[in-house]
Amino acid sequence: MRALLEGLFTVLKHLFMRPVTLEYPEKKRFQSDAFRGKPSVKIGENGCVGCGVCKKVCPSGAINYEKDENGKVISYTFDLNKCIFCGNCMYYCPHSAITLGQNFELGTADKSELKLTYKGGSEND
Ligand code: SF4
Ligand code: SF4
Repeated sequence: MRALLEGLFTVLKHLFMRPVTLEYPEKKRFQSDAFRGKPSVKIGENGCVGCGVCKKVCPSGAINYEKDENGKVISYTFDLNKCIFCGNCMYYCPHSAITLGQNFELGTADKSELKLTYKGGSEND
């Protein structure tokens, strides 16, 4: 009888407590500004100059870019199949051209969608 009452008390107590879960995806958790999600890069004026630092510090070889005949970066790709969101590329870029944003909802059934290509500031052109 005592165990039954204890169980009932526990149920009643939790009826009036705030839930510990969220109605995801309608509601989302607060994320710190330091969160490292989907990477992006700025190309063009005041953006990437193609120095190669990000490629050198990327531990998983997730970065590739192409330059034109004048040495200007024309396209830049993050391969999210490889990226571990360490943030090295963002921290070491001498031109602050890379940002790891707040978006973490990157799941897809199509692996090709995990290659994020930026051309002049746009994605997957
Ligand atoms: S480190 Fe910055 S400027 Fe250099 S290639 Fe990478 S993104 Fe471009
Ligand atoms: S976050 Fe890390 S693993 Fe991802 S592209 Fe940048 S350096 Fe590479």
